[in-house]
Amino acid sequence: VTTCVFCRIVAGEIPAPRILENEHVLAFRDINPQAPVHVLVAPKLHVTRLDALNDVALEAALLSACRAVAADQKIAATGYRVVINTGSDGGQSVDHLHFHVLGGRAMHWPPG
Ligand code: 5GP
Ligand code: ZN
Repeated sequence: VTTCVFCRIVAGEIPAPRILENEHVLAFRDINPQAPVHVLVAPKLHVTRLDALNDVALEAALLSACRAVAADQKIAATGYRVVINTGSDGGQSVDHLHFHVLGGRAMHWPPG
């Protein structure tokens, strides 16, 4: 039995609106959106964080999925932000690697 919330979303045990999905990657809406579009892109297999990812094909699949989410959500033309929070200083709160895809409004810099 896994306690990882994103593994449980992948397994369908916790519902989350799915944006796109393939064999290796799942994209689903963030439960607490920080922008009009806020989608999380995660590997289906449990990888704790960016540093634990050692599969370049999976890296490519994740980044491609972010681009596909932006196109699907109609934010590619207006622009968007992709974020990977890593570790405590990075603000990571779920220890299952995920890319945030944020758009639908202007982003600010520097981030908080
Ligand atoms: P982090 O802080 O680790 O970069 O991002 C974790 C994200 O996961 C947060 O934006 C949070 O809102 C989202 N999240 C946490 N639990 C759930 C959940 O059960 N379902 C969904 N869809 N998103 C979640
Ligand atoms: Zn997991």
